[in-house]
Amino acid sequence: MKVLKVITRDIRFPTSKENLGTDAVHVDCDYSAAYVTIETDDKNLSGVGLTFTIGKGNDLCCNSIDYFKEFIEGKEIEDIEKNISTIWEKVTNHSQLRWVGPQKGVTHIAAAAFFNAIWDLISKYHKKPLWQYIIDLDTNDLIDKLSFTYLDDVLTKKEAADIINENKKKLPGDTSTLNSTIFPAYTTAVGWLGYSDDKMTRLAKENLDKGWTHFKMKVGQDIERDIHRCKLIRSIIGKDKKLMVDSNQVWSVNETIENIGKLKQFDIMFYEEPTNPDDILGFKKIKDAHPDVKLATGEMIQNKVMFKQFIENKSLDYCQIDSCRIASINEIIPVLLMASKFNIPVIPHAGGIGLCEYVQHLNLINKFIITNNDLTLSEYAESCSEHFENPAIIKSGGYVTPTSPGYSVKIKESSLEEFDFNNGKYWN
Ligand SMILES: [Mg+2]
Repeated sequence: MKVLKVITRDIRFPTSKENLGTDAVHVDCDYSAAYVTIETDDKNLSGVGLTFTIGKGNDLCCNSIDYFKEFIEGKEIEDIEKNISTIWEKVTNHSQLRWVGPQKGVTHIAAAAFFNAIWDLISKYHKKPLWQYIIDLDTNDLIDKLSFTYLDDVLTKKEAADIINENKKKLPGDTSTLNSTIFPAYTTAVGWLGYSDDKMTRLAKENLDKGWTHFKMKVGQDIERDIHRCKLIRSIIGKDKKLMVDSNQVWSVNETIENIGKLKQFDIMFYEEPTNPDDILGFKKIKDAHPDVKLATGEMIQNKVMFKQFIENKSLDYCQIDSCRIASINEIIPVLLMASKFNIPVIPHAGGIGLCEYVQHLNLINKFIITNNDLTLSEYAESCSEHFENPAIIKSGGYVTPTSPGYSVKIKESSLEEFDFNNGKYWN
């Protein structure tokens, strides 16, 4: 079976109308997907993948993906599966394109979409949900498919294989029996920064009734308003539920140290992205100033080498891997392995279109064959789920295990037609 062609589409949903996704630095998010379809010579088999953006620039991702098509068009699926790590290096270390990266920014999130589509295709080819395809792979075969470049000072392939093999001892013979797992999650739905007090109050009550026990809210507007909002949410959810805050990079290191001092009274489980996402040493300074608080980051950590430094330096307490920021399974699993080695819990980022659908697979891969940490938690930020053929399903505050073959982000044809930015009905 062969890949015939790769098609990219610029899909944008007008979510800025409802203030969805608003935070301290992103005030008008139109949730968007650079959407990739890999067509094969079997009309019943195609791979789909996406990277998430918030509007303008989605076209740049689509343009970048167009440069990668040549590496798989005309190739047999089995050859692509066998050589996926070589293809990954060709894309992410392209001798000309790397100048506008390398392994960061537009070209890298475009690579995420491209490889997300390839992993979707491969797992569908094997008729398994992605998480199950990965955990069923022979360990050495899996290691060969990943990228460990620049990591050997912190994690060798041998250590990686040992971590996986040790975890695999706990697996049942038939991994399809694992499909009854509910993976615990927290909700981000109640406290987007653009929401009024009334809307937050209503949503907090509704989500409490739905069984949620962990709540995240946005802060970073002005600290008095942040304190007011924390007080409001705490008054509704009570003392026994968990509350996290996310200031989306808006504070300096010194401002963070000062503001954490003011927000501590609300018993915050973690402070997410308090300052610039590249500031590995700055995060450490914040932790040194407040040894009793936990920091979370990762949605804008741009590649595995940055993660390596955050993890080894203990600049983060919770690793928030993002399925569309770094370049898919090839790069994500090595990060999960480094987190496991240093016993850091992974709580994937999922605030964006398709991200909940993706992280449900990453959570299971991490839980079943990688992590050595006991904490199981993931973000759930329902967004645009009505546009997916098989959206992530939540029950009792957790993800229901996906069982359909693939990596779960197929968007309905009717939604693609309506919201295609170039020729969809909505935008014209
Ligand atoms: Mg965040």
